[in-house]
Amino acid sequence: MAVADVPVADTLGRPVRDLRISVTDRCQFRCTYCMPREVFGRDFAFLPRAQLLTFEELTRVARIFAGLGVRKLRLTGGEPLLRRDLDKLVAMLAGIDSIQDVALTTNGALLAQKAKALAAAGLRRVTVSLDSLDDATFMTLNDAHFPVARVLEAIAAAADAGLAPVKVNMVVRRGVNEQSILPMAAHFRHSGHVLRFIEYMDVGTTNGWRLDDVIPAAEIIAQVGGQWPIEPVAPTYPGEVASRYRYWDGAGEIGVIASVTQPFCRGCTRVRLSADGQLYTCLFAAAGHDLRGPLRSGASDQALREQITAVWARRTDRYSEQRTRRTRQQPVRPKVEMSRIGG
Ligand code: SAM
Repeated sequence: MAVADVPVADTLGRPVRDLRISVTDRCQFRCTYCMPREVFGRDFAFLPRAQLLTFEELTRVARIFAGLGVRKLRLTGGEPLLRRDLDKLVAMLAGIDSIQDVALTTNGALLAQKAKALAAAGLRRVTVSLDSLDDATFMTLNDAHFPVARVLEAIAAAADAGLAPVKVNMVVRRGVNEQSILPMAAHFRHSGHVLRFIEYMDVGTTNGWRLDDVIPAAEIIAQVGGQWPIEPVAPTYPGEVASRYRYWDGAGEIGVIASVTQPFCRGCTRVRLSADGQLYTCLFAAAGHDLRGPLRSGASDQALREQITAVWARRTDRYSEQRTRRTRQQPVRPKVEMSRIGG
């Protein structure tokens, strides 16, 4: 059997199922928890265009991963909709045999104008980030003076384009937007969309993370459930990142992503490709594996497959589980390239 037809497993028996592709390291927002202006200011050296993988290169890598077991692709960034003609890439990826799902995580700024073309190209799902319904709070967080109304319009436009239900990601940071938890839940009840609360993650020295800033998912669930009774729902698929809950009164469901307090490394089937072609087997991996070099120096599909298979087969990552244990004693700072965070 050709290597292409053999699903791979890592040292903990985890298959590779989801490929998160960062299509750009740039973003118009300067979210304080993600790309703070002090670090990503005017002088920050973003990648020159020539260093980004082309659509053809991205599609080639995705096709090889599909042969190794990947079924879902998610486009992220930076802000993926800043990459010109993204709908063309979506169409190329959606055309790969055995890829069942192409999804996108976006801040929504450019989504209203692009949703129809993306859906027509084969995008199946969209996740939109929104951290508050209160303009002052949201603008403090996005640090780009971007109003809530534009994100809500983007969510509506995505639904109109056939991308409903939309997932809405809210990063919760203590003392910053915790007062937005219940208004956000109230707003998205009965909307058909799925609000997901994300524990504020440590992304290295850039966002000044402290454990005290994290509102544990259990606290969020208690807060929402105290207002509108909820019950857990079984995961949609093995390894699902969000824990799901449904409202008793039929108003829909919410999710929590508890990567800090309840790490889910054991079921992690995700691999990440940075905009410049580095492969990361964990969001917090210290180093990536270069694919752009081989891609641009004439490596065959077979050689690329063998390289990727070897990387995945050696994978031992359990960063978040180990960090949770260590944090109780002495925090260890990871170093995360932000373009690797995918929703
Ligand atoms: N620009 C797009 C967006 O805003 O959705 C895609 C990239 S963004 C890095 C992907 C997701 O990561 C967003 O939902 C964002 O809120 C989340 N994120 C970024 N930094 C985070 C942090 N420190 N903790 C938890 N989630 C974070």
